[in-house]
Amino acid sequence: MSPFMLATLGGLISLGSTAFGSALAMLRFPGHRFEPWRLPIDFALGLMISAVAFSLVGPAALEAWGDWHRLAPIGLGFYAGILMIAVLHRLLHRFEGAKGHQGQLLLAMVLMVHNFPEGLAAGAALVGLDSAHARTVLGSIALQNIPEGLLMVVCLRALGVSALLSFAGGVGSGLIELFGGMGAGLLLRESAVLLPFLLATAGGAMLTSVVLELGEGASVKKRVLNSRFAMGLVSVPVLNGMIGLLNF
Ligand SMILES: [Zn+2]
Repeated sequence: MSPFMLATLGGLISLGSTAFGSALAMLRFPGHRFEPWRLPIDFALGLMISAVAFSLVGPAALEAWGDWHRLAPIGLGFYAGILMIAVLHRLLHRFEGAKGHQGQLLLAMVLMVHNFPEGLAAGAALVGLDSAHARTVLGSIALQNIPEGLLMVVCLRALGVSALLSFAGGVGSGLIELFGGMGAGLLLRESAVLLPFLLATAGGAMLTSVVLELGEGASVKKRVLNSRFAMGLVSVPVLNGMIGLLNF
């Protein structure tokens, strides 16, 4: 498969997991005041931190430690990811219109925008990483996409959008990941020089999304100190271990 096709496949896997999460949001649980998004969002937040530390940025940074030529693109990519989400957040705060809904609107926008670097990373991983490492990156991105797709639909519903359009919005946010994957395919077509930069950009964007979402939440302490968040945190090392076992 050509690098472009591989990267597109990575983007497609991301899109599929987001669409799956969006479809979950359409399930009905009659006679039950169901708050499905409360359950997985803390898990997704923990998982994103885990992905940054154990698959997107941590291992590459440790390996490159002391070698500025290899560390610089990682640092720059990380910073680019932070900047991307932080600037968006600032802009949205400035244009905040409908009071009461700004939390949801902000979250929906952050979810959409941070999907682009996530798609980039998913595509880049399949093109440039060895298969075990690529599987962890893809697996962790796909896993946190499920609650994120679900959350996207819930956010849109809360903003007064109809069920069907909200579902379309959830799938649409996944399409951004497909474009990200295709973008990675174009960027890595000739050489894999940009790979560490792209993975680190996704890491920076993920981490900033987590920090901002925790900041918007009512009680940071309550959200961080719960089992779902903790499960998310350990999930990438566990995923790594499982993939390692399967390879033997
Ligand atoms: Zn994410």
